[in-house]
Amino acid sequence: MKILTLNCGSSSLKYTFFDTAAAATLADGIVERITIGEAFIVHRLAGRAGKPLRREHPCPTHKEAIDLVLATLTGEEAGAISDPGEISAVAHRVVHGGEEFTRSVIIDERVVEVIRRYISLAPLHNPPNVAGIEAARAMLPAVPQIAVFDTAFHYTIPDYAYIYALPYEWYHDLGVRRYGFHGTSHLYVSRRAAALLGKQPSEVNLITLHLGNGASACAVRGGQSVDTSMGLTPLEGLVMGTRSGDVDPAIPFQLPQSIPLALQEIYMLLNRRSGVLGLTGKYADRRDVLAHMEEAASSDDAGAEEPGSPYRCKLALEVECYRLQKYVGAYAAALGRVDAVVFTAGVGENSPKVRALSLRGLEPLGIILEEGKNEAAPRGREVDVSAADSPVKVLVIPTDEERVFIEDTVALLDGAYDLPDRFEYSFQRADYQPRER
Ligand code: AMP
Repeated sequence: MKILTLNCGSSSLKYTFFDTAAAATLADGIVERITIGEAFIVHRLAGRAGKPLRREHPCPTHKEAIDLVLATLTGEEAGAISDPGEISAVAHRVVHGGEEFTRSVIIDERVVEVIRRYISLAPLHNPPNVAGIEAARAMLPAVPQIAVFDTAFHYTIPDYAYIYALPYEWYHDLGVRRYGFHGTSHLYVSRRAAALLGKQPSEVNLITLHLGNGASACAVRGGQSVDTSMGLTPLEGLVMGTRSGDVDPAIPFQLPQSIPLALQEIYMLLNRRSGVLGLTGKYADRRDVLAHMEEAASSDDAGAEEPGSPYRCKLALEVECYRLQKYVGAYAAALGRVDAVVFTAGVGENSPKVRALSLRGLEPLGIILEEGKNEAAPRGREVDVSAADSPVKVLVIPTDEERVFIEDTVALLDGAYDLPDRFEYSFQRADYQPRER
């Protein structure tokens, strides 16, 4: 089976093309600047040395972007197949599945309709997902299309953890509750963690930390999500690249008394100009933050409060890591027993500093990092960075959400798919070899 996975964001489209018979990714890439202008594709063909292919192409909507992906995949220059008819299935990442979708599904009219309905819950995320699904269905009408939901893994969260202390009718009538996101990533790393601990998923309690540009924590009891830091939308919880995470909900209502901002503008500011970017005033990428905080002085020094200053970079890192530390403590309390803390995604996999700062002072909870192992952790590998005598293991596990997309797709088409907590993935077996990066 040859499966195309599509991950449509508001202005980008990430894709991979996977051959299940060869158990290999044939090609992958990204289309950027969709709807913005000056769009381009960066496409990598597996096994081909040298720079990836880069081509500019107008993409006023996601339809042109998917067209571009299909043309590149079948093109002479860097194509993986000669005919789009060779594509067996398309798997779409869908951000919000609400309470309706507790597992991946084959897309039909009803599914599209429900995802469209959830646009009111995910106005920034579901519209590009719907656009991608509609364009791919129009272009490949005979090919089965599958939706994999970011929210599905969290359907096991109990009511007392997902309900907000708001009028109950808001939940009942409007669906206002915590849903959680990054579900495929939390699912993948929690299953891998169980395998690395030599246990079944049902035997382990974990705190999984997906720290990328977006970031979320998840408390996993017996292999199931029982709490997570993102809420009705991905804005709640940890400090992220451009999102604030937890703030006093009164702020959007107080702010317009001081500066002339509409609620919608504040919503965009909380999503796009807050978090690490808001604190530093210049950088959302933690690599920039880490590089510029080195010579950090105090806030009294001249220029210390300028955007991008070492002081502001250091402050951003401290705020981010302190929030993480508090969530780890809270989830340790929620779980009672913790077998491992797991770091994943761009920051979690690659920043020893963030790992060390966010676990600082948690030794009384049995979480003991070994500095040498943490600093020396090789990039792109699964590694245990805890001290030998640490009661709670600390693991770095590169995430592989595409693996979940592919296995869900194959199982759905074979009729072998079940709820995510009952379905057995290849990557939860002890002999599974993670993808090389
Ligand atoms: P993701 O959303 O998982 O692709 O992660 C993207 C983020 O990972 C980037 O915005 C960076 O902030 C972060 N990142 C990537 N490499 C490193 C690194 N070596 N050190 C710190 N942060 C990193």
